[in-house]
Amino acid sequence: MKKAIFLDRDGVINKKPKEHDYVKRWEEMKILPGAKKALTLIKQSGYLAVVITNQRGVARKMMTHEDLRDMHMKLNEKMKGQIDAFYYCHHEVFENCECRKPKPGLLHKAAAELDIDLEQSWMIGDSESDIECGFAAGTKVKMVETDGNLFLEVKQIIGSSKNRSSRVKLVSYGTKERN
Ligand SMILES: [Mg+2]
Ligand SMILES: [Zn+2]
Repeated sequence: MKKAIFLDRDGVINKKPKEHDYVKRWEEMKILPGAKKALTLIKQSGYLAVVITNQRGVARKMMTHEDLRDMHMKLNEKMKGQIDAFYYCHHEVFENCECRKPKPGLLHKAAAELDIDLEQSWMIGDSESDIECGFAAGTKVKMVETDGNLFLEVKQIIGSSKNRSSRVKLVSYGTKERN
């Protein structure tokens, strides 16, 4: 089995769009400094790099699946092809799907398709729903600053001897503490 670092996209790899807006076109994709280097470190350390993202702009017809996939292809080209896979939820909140974070559906799907051991893996994100999603799937979790430097964050978890979840502060989801 493989291990993976699951990454939220907006606010982690690329600049987070404004509230209620989405990255709809490639021109709106602002890659954050540190993202490419972070991916290189992830790959060098023997992890898969898998993007896990909610994109309900698709449900709202602000972009198509094709638009989104094209952007992900271009993004991965910029990242030297170091992203192993993209998984996204394209549903509206009210559809109550199994894949919209904080539900762990996308992580389970990725784990099944890519043969990933979730317990050996990390979910990195800038919002509580990312962290809750990781907890629900049984990964280690790391909450990062929005639009921060992903490289420094990845370095911390890969370099840490204890290799445990850190900086976890769950207010509204604090039911699944693990250690
Ligand atoms: Mg985010
Ligand atoms: Zn969904």
